[in-house]
Formats: sequence, structure tokens, C-alpha cells
Amino acid sequence: MAVIGAPSSAFVTTSDLTAAIDEARRHLDAAQRVVVFTGAGISTDSGIPDFRGPNGLWTKNPAAEKASNLQNYLADPELRKAAWQNRLTTPAWTAQPNEGHAAIVELERRGQLHALVTQNIDGLHQKAGNDPDKVIEVHGTVWFTRCWDCRDQRPMEQTLGRVRAGEVDPPCFVCGGILKSDTISFGQALVPEVIERALQVSEESDVFLAVGSSLSVFPAANAVPRAKSGGAKVVIVNADETGMDRFADHTLFGQIGEILPALVR
Ligand code: NAD
Ligand code: ZN
Repeated sequence: MAVIGAPSSAFVTTSDLTAAIDEARRHLDAAQRVVVFTGAGISTDSGIPDFRGPNGLWTKNPAAEKASNLQNYLADPELRKAAWQNRLTTPAWTAQPNEGHAAIVELERRGQLHALVTQNIDGLHQKAGNDPDKVIEVHGTVWFTRCWDCRDQRPMEQTLGRVRAGEVDPPCFVCGGILKSDTISFGQALVPEVIERALQVSEESDVFLAVGSSLSVFPAANAVPRAKSGGAKVVIVNADETGMDRFADHTLFGQIGEILPALVR
């Protein structure tokens, strides 16, 4: 096991990291069923802030956390109104995939990608060129809306058009219920089939590569112990320590945009 200390450690050197990347790459090169698990950190280089990183939305503005909670959203029309205004200008609509996303496309091109489990809701893996059938979005997607009452799903752009036309909190066309983006809010249950598939593919993996996640949001983070129990080598790439470092065979602390391309070179 190669563990490089946390980035705050004075003992981490570039050569330590390079050696650890080389070792992890040997496992990756030999792998046949890689599961990549991504979090918000893979999209920060595309201009979408994470929640808990140094420039994270919640790190800078703890009040923003309130809007991510399902009960608050359903109970408070003012909060929904603000949420629709935020959705009009979210960086996700114009963001482009980066080097990190491209490295995962390369893994798929090499025929090694078993599945890509993502906590991200931004759709950038599909935009980068990963097969949508391989992408398991455990926390949903911002590209669609969902009615909280009748479950009607439709493209986000349709509802954003209504907001631009002056509806501050557009109700569901079908039943008049509350609309939200088709994402899993905090306090909301995950879709059972989706999270079960994510945990199952993780258990089937021979290398499990976790990228840009604090691995502190459950049940998604349970993919790490599931992968480990299935016999996978676990590689974690992140700027900071994560909640699952104890399961890792290789913990690569640094910038995703540098480490992932080096791993998949
Ligand atoms: P998180 O905010 O808890 O953790 C992100 C981690 O990535 C942090 O530890 C941070 O240090 C690291 N990081 C950020 N940029 C990095 C970089 N360039 N290189 C290396 N490391 C970097 O994110 P999470 O674990 O995904 O959990 C947050 C929840 O919020 C998820 O459920 C997700 O659905 C949602 N979310 C999604 C997006 C998105 O779709 N892009 C953005 C914000 C939040
Ligand atoms: Zn409805």
C-alpha cells in the first residue's frame, strides 16, 4: 500500500507523488473492469464549484447549504424562487469537460471501463464522450426537472423558458405540483435501482478509482467499501483527505487535471 500524506504534510514531495502514480498506473494498466467514481472535484477545472473544497459553495457561504435540503425547498416558496433564479445562470449550462473527464473517456476507449459512477449532476461525463449507458448518476441530473407530486420528468430548458417569461416558481404542467431539478437533494432518498446498480458494479470492479470526492456523502460513499470487499484495488485521487482513505491501496493527493492524465497515459 502506498499512502502519500495529506497535502498539508511537509513531507509530501513531487517524487513521492510520481512514484505513487507509477505504482497505481501499473494496477490500472492491468485492469479489465475499472469502475471510476467521481465527485464535484472533477468538475472544478470546468468552472463548477464543489461544496466542501477550499473554494466550495458551502465553504464560502454556509447559508447555501439550506437550499440543498429537500424539506426547506418544499416548504419555502421564497427559497424556490431564489433557486429558479440561480438555475438560470448555473455554470453547468456552458461548462466544458476538462482533462480529467477526457482521461476517463480514454479508459473507456481502451475497453477497460466497467462503469462510471458519478455523484455529479452536471452531465459533463456524457458531454466528454463517455457512453451514457456506462454513466450511473446516483444523485440525478440538472438537465431535467421532476415534479415532486406526479414524477413527470421533462427537459430543464423547457421550465427555464417559463422562468425567463416571468413565472417565479413554475408549477408542474400535469398536476400543478412543485417542480425541482431532477437531482437528489439532501434529505431525499436515492433511487433504489440506481444506487443498487452503482454498488453492484463497484463490487465487480478490479480497480476502483475515486476522483474528486470528499467521500463523505452516503449512501454513495459506500461504493468504496463495496469495491474493497469485492477484491478491488482502491485508488483515491483528491486534493484533500477523504472519509475513505483507510480503504485505499493508493492515495494520490494533488490536482486531478495533472494526476488523471498521468494515470491513463
Ligand atoms: P465535495 O464538495 O464534498 O468534495 C469535492 C472534493 O474534491 C474536495 O475534497 C476537494 O478538495 C476536491 N477537489 C476539488 N477540486 C479539485 C481538483 N481540481 N483536484 C483535486 N481535488 C479537487 O464533493 P462530493 O464528494 O462530490 O459531494 C458533494 C455533493 O454535491 C455530491 O453529492 C454532488 O452530487 C453534489 N455536487 C455536484 C456538483 C457537480 O455536478 N459538478 C458540484 C457541486 C456539488
Ligand atoms: Zn406533477
